[in-house]
Amino acid sequence: MRTIKEYIVDKKEFIKKEIDSLAKKPKLVIVQVNDDPASNAYIRGKLKDSAEVGFDSELIKLSETTSEKELLDLVEKLNHDDSVTGFIVQMPLPKGIDEEKVKRAVTPSKDVDGFNPLSDLNPATPQGIVTYLKDEGFIFKGKNAVVLGRSNIVGRPMARLLLDESMNVTVIHSKTSEEDKRLYLKNADLIVTAVGKIGVLSNDYEYKKDAVVIDVGINRGDDGKLHGDALPELNVGFQTPVPGGVGLLTRLALLLNLLKVSK
Ligand code: NAP
Repeated sequence: MRTIKEYIVDKKEFIKKEIDSLAKKPKLVIVQVNDDPASNAYIRGKLKDSAEVGFDSELIKLSETTSEKELLDLVEKLNHDDSVTGFIVQMPLPKGIDEEKVKRAVTPSKDVDGFNPLSDLNPATPQGIVTYLKDEGFIFKGKNAVVLGRSNIVGRPMARLLLDESMNVTVIHSKTSEEDKRLYLKNADLIVTAVGKIGVLSNDYEYKKDAVVIDVGINRGDDGKLHGDALPELNVGFQTPVPGGVGLLTRLALLLNLLKVSK
């Protein structure tokens, strides 16, 4: 398998060519209702990617005092704005705004984050991971997958997508015993970790020597640097790095979702 960085370069070239062949340039709108440094960084990345492949994009930054009604009114306006191909509302939202309500308010045909349960598109992180594995020739059928974490935005949709690829899927969470975790990991061909804790996977566990580990975790360490859930250099066949790993796949999936809705 190629590294994620190598893969992304090729894939962006592909998207650029597809956009050049479209009659109208697609437009992405990002709505931000916080001034969270992590969100600012994610949004900068998304805008940079969009410009790089040739999408138009716009950031609508609202104050943190925005009410739920004001945000829902804006979502409704974007739902009906023909100049907008797709849009996302950057999470997290300020306290007092119901995130689930907002996710469901985004019309499925423009929901490039795939957060509305009625959307045909999948959430960007698990979708980005499956697309990458497929493109790189990973064989899913009948193989054993372990997903660590069961959140609505990563763990659960990840497990569903791997099941759709006919894998045997086990989901591990905070109530799973250490003994069971050991057993499941030992038999896994694919391990996706989305927990949010450094060291959830280490060489204290036994792995198949050709296992593939996809590390979704983004954790700030005591050293001030970003780390994944997995410690580096696990005794496996392939492991994605953090940073420079799944975060890039998530951004790519957003571009691919936008391309899909613009067609
Ligand atoms: P979350 O909502 O906090 O969910 C964490 C999950 O991990 C929960 O289901 C929890 O179980 C489970 N868990 C806790 N301790 C565990 C343990 N020791 N072993 C196994 N499972 C355990 O987090 P999230 O939003 O899914 O995000 C997870 C991580 O991915 C974070 O570091 C986040 O920053 C990162 N992330 C990265 C990207 C990207 O693009 N790279 C995108 C999204 C998220 P319970 O349900 O039992 O509590």
